[in-house]
Amino acid sequence: MIVRELTAKNIITKSNLPSADYVINPYVGCSHACIYCYARFMKRFTNHEEPWGKFVDVKINADELIPNNLEKYRGKKFFIASVTDPYLHYEREYKLTRKLLEKLVDIDAQIDIQSKSDLIVRDIDVLKQFNNCKAGITMTALDDTIRREVEPYTASVEKRVTALQALSEAGLFTYVFIGPIFPYLTDWIGIIERTKPFVKEYVFENLNVKGTIWQDIANWLRGKHPELYQKYYDIYFGRSDYWAVEEARIAEYCRQNGIRHRIYFHHGKE
Ligand code: SF4
Repeated sequence: MIVRELTAKNIITKSNLPSADYVINPYVGCSHACIYCYARFMKRFTNHEEPWGKFVDVKINADELIPNNLEKYRGKKFFIASVTDPYLHYEREYKLTRKLLEKLVDIDAQIDIQSKSDLIVRDIDVLKQFNNCKAGITMTALDDTIRREVEPYTASVEKRVTALQALSEAGLFTYVFIGPIFPYLTDWIGIIERTKPFVKEYVFENLNVKGTIWQDIANWLRGKHPELYQKYYDIYFGRSDYWAVEEARIAEYCRQNGIRHRIYFHHGKE
């Protein structure tokens, strides 16, 4: 892993996401190295030759880039983070996310912070100071063997469940981002059952295999789940209604069980 400190030029970026006005990414790159990572396109924009997942740039001046006059951001929605994880283990030392949050508290920003690490609980004291804060934990699998295969350097399933419990007990609005859903492997009902005492909302996203992601997914399937390779191929490159059926199943399950949810499914083929 190549870790560099850099002096960044800006830290608040206008968002293309439907649910946020701005995004904040305290780090460039991501050591979690998820095989499905959609943020790998960032490599092109940051002049990195190392493979995605093998470099992290630490924006050591991140909090200084928050302007003194924050009035234009008052009440706006911030998503932390869109192309990295705000709680990479480097955050233990650098505390960039924490310092950024401390600055945003003053303007009553609406915060949506999402991570695959239980380090998020360190900042409960700051998160609680926002009037409007959503704290999300991502879960792609309930089985730690699968989790390790697809997100090798993230926190274990059990640590994430414990983090959700701590966030919930602190009175925060908690959600679980179930995504990406891996066909035949992501037990989303199991994830809901395991976490629902601590969770207010579930967000669902299906696996997207755009660009170079398919190659990594295909290699993983061939190595670890060869019986699923053809099934995945048919879903993404054949005439399959797999995701339409799955989306309807999720909606129906949530309706029947009174589960607050959002579904962000892509139905494009590749
Ligand atoms: S945690 Fe997010 S940004 Fe980091 S590698 Fe995984 S999917 Fe990509």
